[in-house]
Amino acid sequence: MKYLYLLGYPLSHSVSPAMQNAALHARGLYAIRYIKNPMPPAKMREMILALRAPHCLGANVTVPHKQTIMPHLDELTARAREIGAVNTILKQDGKLIGDNTDAYGFLQALRVRRVNPQGARVAIFGAGGAAAAAAFALAQADVREIIFLNRTLTRSVALADRLNKKFPFLALALNDWDALAQTQLIINATSVGMAPQADASPAPRDFVFAKHAIAFDLVYNPPATQFLRDARQHGARAIGGLEMLVYQGARAFELWTGQRAPVRVMRDAAANALREISRASTNQ
Ligand code: NAP
Repeated sequence: MKYLYLLGYPLSHSVSPAMQNAALHARGLYAIRYIKNPMPPAKMREMILALRAPHCLGANVTVPHKQTIMPHLDELTARAREIGAVNTILKQDGKLIGDNTDAYGFLQALRVRRVNPQGARVAIFGAGGAAAAAAFALAQADVREIIFLNRTLTRSVALADRLNKKFPFLALALNDWDALAQTQLIINATSVGMAPQADASPAPRDFVFAKHAIAFDLVYNPPATQFLRDARQHGARAIGGLEMLVYQGARAFELWTGQRAPVRVMRDAAANALREISRASTNQ
């Protein structure tokens, strides 16, 4: 038996094992299993040893290791380096290669919802790994302007600097809250609104979404976050984080196995696992 790991801490609420194991099964890859390998930050050495073991084929990396694992890997793809975070690890000739599939997942989620961000002014709440993946993907898709709204200004400054180096003609603004009302695409890339704090939103309490606006929440648990509920209430379009989760997972699956990902199977498995989690937490 070979293994793919999910490395992070805590991992109790992840739907990735259900999604990836359904995909492995659908492609007849019965000798590979995707399993949670919960590792607190102090266990970096054990984590790297587990990755180097011959029965390990690769891994997904999640909070809190997406950045801290980078110097321990043998190589990084250009994509992971520019985003500044790793969410997928591949093994090639025994080497650990850090990659990032979040940017692909983000853009693909927009594509399937028929949102073309080209020329748009976009606001992003957050400046962490997910915000960086979204921002690089949007810059590549030729958006006109990105406004970062983040609690810690130094983090948005650092992200804007990195973006500016690669995309010198892209307009960037930091914490310009007044511009929010004139923004076509508003993205939540913070963890605000995640269960169990499901009634929190990154947008100001009195913010009124424009009717033509599109709100995209990268949080997928709960599926209807406060941010998305507010957007819908004002007549704006709302997109949840499940689609991005599915596509970042699909790209990782293809990198590990060399086979086309069964996207529909993965979406159904992830949605079912999410329903199970919310049923279990309401019964507690
Ligand atoms: P991260 O690197 O730890 O960044 C977290 C971000 O959230 C930072 O900008 C942080 O602000 C902000 N934040 C956290 N708590 C906050 C609070 N109480 N008030 C205001 N801001 C707060 O995490 P990440 O990897 O970017 O993930 C962010 C979110 O995206 C998570 O909910 C994650 O589940 C989701 N995500 C979804 C997908 C998907 O496939 N759907 C993929 C990746 C991530 P500071 O800089 O001020 O700390």
